[in-house]
Amino acid sequence: MRTHLQLIVAYLFFVCASSGSADAAAPEKPVFRAGAATSNITPSIGTASSAKARGSKPQATHVHDELQARCLVLDDGRAKLALVVCDLRHMSAEVAAAAKEIIRETTGIPPKCVVISATHTHTSSGARVEAAEGEPYLDYKTLLTRRIADGVLRAANNLEPARIAWGVAEEPTQVFNRRWFLKASRGPIYGAHDNIEQVDTNPGYSGLLNPAGPVDPQITFLSVQSTAGKPIAIFASYGLHYVGGIAPGAISADYFAMFAERIGELLGADLHQDPPFVGIMANGTSGDVNNLERYSDEELAKRGPQPKKRYLPYEKAHEVADLCAAKVLEVHKTLQWHDHVKLSSAQRTLTFERRYPTKAEVEWAEAVKAKKIKPMSTSRYSTYSTVLAYNSPEMPPTIDVVVQTHRIGDLAVAAMPFEVFAEIGLELKRRSPIQPLMNISIANGSHGYLPTPEQHRLGGYETWIGVNKVQLDASVKLVDSLVEMLGELKTQSR
Ligand SMILES: [Zn+2]
Repeated sequence: MRTHLQLIVAYLFFVCASSGSADAAAPEKPVFRAGAATSNITPSIGTASSAKARGSKPQATHVHDELQARCLVLDDGRAKLALVVCDLRHMSAEVAAAAKEIIRETTGIPPKCVVISATHTHTSSGARVEAAEGEPYLDYKTLLTRRIADGVLRAANNLEPARIAWGVAEEPTQVFNRRWFLKASRGPIYGAHDNIEQVDTNPGYSGLLNPAGPVDPQITFLSVQSTAGKPIAIFASYGLHYVGGIAPGAISADYFAMFAERIGELLGADLHQDPPFVGIMANGTSGDVNNLERYSDEELAKRGPQPKKRYLPYEKAHEVADLCAAKVLEVHKTLQWHDHVKLSSAQRTLTFERRYPTKAEVEWAEAVKAKKIKPMSTSRYSTYSTVLAYNSPEMPPTIDVVVQTHRIGDLAVAAMPFEVFAEIGLELKRRSPIQPLMNISIANGSHGYLPTPEQHRLGGYETWIGVNKVQLDASVKLVDSLVEMLGELKTQSR
């Protein structure tokens, strides 16, 4: 009886407390939720056969590790954001747009709140998405579109109450600018169209003066865990092209996937937890940055003879992944967790003039075509036929590209559909009105390399017509737009 009475009293108190409280009519505090999932996007072994027939990439003969679309969905109770990183060399704008339409239907998340990017692994052989009609890759394109959308739906299905934090780690020892000024003793540098250039990309290891640009050593990341502390996902971004050192003929997601696995281990994610922990590493701004350790002759002399390590296949990629994961873990220990943050997104379509060849390039290309001259340089990236194609009136005069900014609490994200030079990412980080900023490149499409106008003047592989597709000052317009969009997110009522 006594117990019964106590219950009644407790019940009455509860009711009174609710109805009597000043904020009784206020809406419930929104719950922040996060969900993650991976979706297998590995192409079949051998699907690159017609690429081989065309004399480009050799056919894949083995799958070392599966390629995934790694998906994270965040939900602030009002807005959602889906972040997807695919283990692919490039992201097709068409595939990204089609996947977003399915995602809108299945999850209600609008396209402007979905980022779909590629890591830039160079060993996704067979996973080509821009093949000519009638080729088997077209089947892959359909599969990829659906598998990306599946991944986002699965991540949305896994949404659970969560807390979130973000941080910035640094790993400066694994990023090297690959464009160099050379000593005069190396002689003139001939570009793709026999012009003389000031810098060389991947110039070997001796006779080097100084790199033509900076690197971004930061690993910007966000972390989500359940309210009980179970790790749900890490989403990181580092400005490193890829690592490589993969066995010939193998499909592999490179260091990006190895980082994803290692960071889960370091955070103590249970291999059998349900749903599984998802690690994600996006490509930051790495258009001119690779993992090949190069130094000027002076620096080499200072360092003295170094032991030359010979790596087994995958060993170097594991080494880089482990280093990055260790640096992220260090910062992770100091994170400040938030029970709730607001999400907001902005998207614009920018129209760029497409790249036009110079008069000198056209004259050179016509002379090569007419067999009046034999080209001295034998670039397969920007040939005389590339120059003539870009000079053709049949080429569309403009290229539309989708750019996005997102705000996750006080973390900003910029998504760009290019292989963006490091200095552009650094400028964005400096100018962003929301700090810190995470850059994601090869996002929502890939429209070639994006150098600055200054880097265009220096020349080098990434500045050649064909691998670079848009007007020479496109980076200026891109950065200004993104900073403006971040400003809008900053001033929006929160
Ligand atoms: Zn590249």
